[in-house]
Amino acid sequence: MSDLRTLVGLAVSPGIAIGRPVVVENRPLPVVRESIAPEQIDSEVARLQEAAARAVAHLVSLASEAGRRVGSEYAAILEAHRLMLEDPTLVAEVEKVIRERGINAEAALEVVVRQLVERFDQLADLYLRERRTDLLDVATELQRALQGRPSPRLHSTGEDAVLVADEIPPSQAIQLALGQVCGFASETGGATSHTTIIARSLGIPAVVGVSGLVARIGEAPIVIVDGFEGHVLVDPDPAMVQVYRLRAEEHRNRQVELLGSAHLPATTQDGQRVRLTANIDLLHELPAAQQAGAEGVGLFRSEFIYLQASPELPGEDEQYETYRALVEGFAGQIVTVRTFDLGGKKLARELLGSPETNPVLGLRGVRLCLQKPSFFRTQLRALLRAAALAPDRLRVMVPLVSTVEEIRTVRVLLTRLARELAEEGHTVPERVTLGVMIEVPAAALVAEHLAAEVDFFSIGTNDLTQYTLAVDRANEQVADLYRPFHPAVLRLVDRVISTGARAGIPVSLCGEMAADPLAVPVLVGLGLGEFSMHPQALPVIRSLVRALSYREARRIAQRALSFATAKAVEEFLLERLSGLLSHLKVRIRL
Ligand code: PEP
Ligand code: MG
Repeated sequence: MSDLRTLVGLAVSPGIAIGRPVVVENRPLPVVRESIAPEQIDSEVARLQEAAARAVAHLVSLASEAGRRVGSEYAAILEAHRLMLEDPTLVAEVEKVIRERGINAEAALEVVVRQLVERFDQLADLYLRERRTDLLDVATELQRALQGRPSPRLHSTGEDAVLVADEIPPSQAIQLALGQVCGFASETGGATSHTTIIARSLGIPAVVGVSGLVARIGEAPIVIVDGFEGHVLVDPDPAMVQVYRLRAEEHRNRQVELLGSAHLPATTQDGQRVRLTANIDLLHELPAAQQAGAEGVGLFRSEFIYLQASPELPGEDEQYETYRALVEGFAGQIVTVRTFDLGGKKLARELLGSPETNPVLGLRGVRLCLQKPSFFRTQLRALLRAAALAPDRLRVMVPLVSTVEEIRTVRVLLTRLARELAEEGHTVPERVTLGVMIEVPAAALVAEHLAAEVDFFSIGTNDLTQYTLAVDRANEQVADLYRPFHPAVLRLVDRVISTGARAGIPVSLCGEMAADPLAVPVLVGLGLGEFSMHPQALPVIRSLVRALSYREARRIAQRALSFATAKAVEEFLLERLSGLLSHLKVRIRL
C-alpha cells in the first residue's frame, strides 16, 4: 500500500491508533555560538554546572513519577540518564571546550556531543549504536536547561494524541507511558531500541522507520498509526477514518472477547492438552501475561536486565530480586529463565574485547558466558538462590548451545556454585532444572545426546531458521529467504520434538513460530507440549488450539513435512486452514 498519504514503516507494536498528531522534533536545538572573554570563562562554567544540576533535578523528578506510575524499569532508564549527566566526563568535556576555545556553554556542548555521536556511529554493534539515542536525549536535556527552555511534558497532550517524531528518545517514550498518548510513529528506531521495547510492552501501537515522516505531517489534523501493517496514514479522509475506527474497535472487541476465555485450558476438541506460556522481556509485562492466561513463563530474556543496568553490570542481588519477582508473580507455575543471550548482533557487547567480523557466528549466548566466567558466575549464583525459593518451578535455560560439552560445563558450574553458596550459608536446591535451547542445527542433530544431559528442550525457531537457512534474520535484503516453513526447519523441529518424547523430557518452542496461527496446527500435530509467546498473542493462540482437532492436526503436520519448498508448505497450510482462521477472525501475515 503506498499513496501520497500512506507512509510505510516497520510495524513494531500491534494495534491501531487514530488521533491528533503531536509532532516532536528531537533534532538538536538551534545553538548560537558566542565568544566568551577570558574573565567571563569561570562564570560560563558555573552557568554550565547550574544547568546540569537543573537537568539532573528534572530527571530525578521524572524518574520518581515514572517509578510511581509505570514501573521501575522505566525509572531505571531515567536513572541511567541522570547518571550520564552526573558522570563528570560529559560536563567536564564541555568545560574543557569552553576553556580551550573560549566559547559559550551551548556551543561547547554541541561540539562535545558531535564528537561523541561520531564515536557511537562507528560502533559495529546495533544495540550500542542505538544507545546513541540515550546520549542525545541527555544532551538535549542539558541544552534545554542551558537555554532556559521547558522540557516537553507529553503527558498533558490528551488521550487522542499520537506522538509523531523524527526520533523518540527513551525518556519521551516513558512520558508517553505516563500520559495518554495512544500511539506513536517515528522516522528512526529499530526492533531492539528501548523505545520500541517500551511501546510493545505497554501495548501502544507503534510504527518506526518511516522516512520523511515529520515533513509529511505538516498541518494534518488526524493521523492513523496501523501497528499491524506498519502504515502511517496522514490526514486520511473521513471514510478512511471510519474504516480504521471499525478495525480498531473490532480489534478491541476481539481482544476483550478473547481475554474472557483466558482461564480456559488450551485443549483441542479431541482432548490434546498443550501449555501456553509467556515470553517476558520486562517485569512490567507480568500482569498482561497473567491476564492473558499464561501458564507460566517459557522464556524470560534475562539479557534485558543487563540492558537496563548497562553500562553497569547487574549485580547478584539485583538479579536475584528479578528472578524472585518472577517466581512469586507466577505462583505455582513454571518460570524459565534464559541465561544471558548477549553478543551476536542482538545486544550489548561491551563484554567483548574486540569487534567481530561475523558476530552472529561469533561469541554469543553461552559461548560468551563461558568466556566471561565471573560475569556468568554472578548470574548463576542469583539463579541458584532464586531456585531455592521454588526448586520445582524455576528452570534455567541455556541459549545458543552447539556442543554437548557446553551444557556439561554449565552443569558443573552450577554444582560448584551451589556448593559455594551452601558454604556461605545460603539455601540452595538439591538439583537445578536445566534445559537447552535448540536453535542451532548442530544441537537439533545431536538432540539425543543433549537430552541425556538436560531436563528439557526449548526450540528457538527465530535462530534455528537463521542458522539452518544461512539467512541473517535482521537483514532485509534476504528477508524473502527467511522462511520458518522451509522443510529443513520443519524437519529439525520434528526431530527435536520426537527426540524429546523418546527421552521423556518436555519440549517447548519459544520462537515467533509459536505465535504464528499457520504454524500452530503443525506444531500441535507434531506433538509439541508447550508454546511460549509474547503475552498479546496468547488469547488468539488459545482460541485456535481449542478449535483444532488433534487427529486432523497430526495429518496436517505429516503432510506439511512432505513438501519440497517453503512455498508449497505455506500454500498447503493456507488452503487447509484459511476457513478455520477466518471463522476465528485470526489475522495471518506471510
Ligand atoms: C529464538 O531464537 O527463537 C529465540 C526465542 O530467542 P531470541 O529471539 O531471543 O534470539
Ligand atoms: Mg535465539
